[in-house]
Amino acid sequence: MTMNNTFKSAFFEVKDWEKDYIYKALPKEDVILFGETLEEALRLNTSEVFANVTIISTFIDSDCSKKTLEKFPQLKFIATRSTGYDHIDLEYCKLKGIKVSNVPNYGQNTVAEHAMALLLTLVKRIPESTERIRKGNFSAEGLTGYDLKDKIIGVIGTGNIGKNFISMAKGFNMNVIAFDINRRVELEEELGFTYTDLDYIFAKSDIISLHIPYLKTTHHIIDQKAIDKMKKGVVIINTSRGGLIDTDALYIGLTSKKIGAAGLDVVEEENFIKEELQFLKEEECDSDTLKIALENQMMSNMSNVAMTPHNAFNTKEALVRIIKITLENILEYVDNNPVNIVS
Ligand code: NAD
Repeated sequence: MTMNNTFKSAFFEVKDWEKDYIYKALPKEDVILFGETLEEALRLNTSEVFANVTIISTFIDSDCSKKTLEKFPQLKFIATRSTGYDHIDLEYCKLKGIKVSNVPNYGQNTVAEHAMALLLTLVKRIPESTERIRKGNFSAEGLTGYDLKDKIIGVIGTGNIGKNFISMAKGFNMNVIAFDINRRVELEEELGFTYTDLDYIFAKSDIISLHIPYLKTTHHIIDQKAIDKMKKGVVIINTSRGGLIDTDALYIGLTSKKIGAAGLDVVEEENFIKEELQFLKEEECDSDTLKIALENQMMSNMSNVAMTPHNAFNTKEALVRIIKITLENILEYVDNNPVNIVS
């Protein structure tokens, strides 16, 4: 496929193994690859490097805000190598006529499996058990877990990942109730769960798992008020986005034992956990951000919290699906037939 020198692509956060896939799909001379995030690459290179770039592709650690996107004067298309696109300023893109695509279907089983792994880890007390064995202690005293069978699980979001998660929960003979702004009645019948409203989910669920996108309307969908409505000892699983949960309310809920356990693949301000030095580098680190970062740090040390580093997508199979679908998104865009467009 030739791009007739019209389209120049810049890929950020590229891993070595991805390079072969990229060079097979796109002419080498039309592509520049960076291992760094978008901001880091902008910092390390002169503006001329990006002057003719029309397409960019990033993963979720690049901040695609107005401030960074303005550095690409010819930008027409962003192909994010993720399902979520809350790291991209869609309003700015709309204003500038920049199209954005995502990878909607790569991780429907992958992320659901991770959510289920977090849940099993917590209810079967796996981290504490393995830690004890590591220390040479084979006593099971104080490590009583509980069965998933017959428990009520509230699934918020019944899209690609949520529906896979529901199938798995049904496999454990759990009672599934769900909330989604778009009810899929055929799915409800097929999988044998019941749609209900959020308040009912909060009041009745033994376990709550989040599978919705992070939007203005879903910001802190789990806040103090929501937690107040929940059963004592509720288990909360979040593999979607950190901003869905008010960290302060979660931290208070865990320390007061209102929340029994939390499985968190994503947390608010997770970049601060990824790189502790960020604290020192970040000029705009306000007291709220600092508080969230510290609460995350403290939660990560709690025995009833299983925290993973935004890793739910990260299987060999899913990674290959992500790069292949991203490259198809780019080729279809170049071919004037854009697919998987989110804005
Ligand atoms: P999807 O679009 O297939 O499903 C999302 C569902 O949420 C849809 O059914 C939609 O109707 C529903 N929804 C949207 N707004 C809602 C609201 N306000 N209230 C209730 N329901 C609402 O997306 P998906 O593939 O299932 O992915 C879900 C989320 O998982 C993504 O947005 C992303 O943030 C996250 N994700 C995380 C990882 C990871 O590695 N941790 C990987 C992939 C996706």
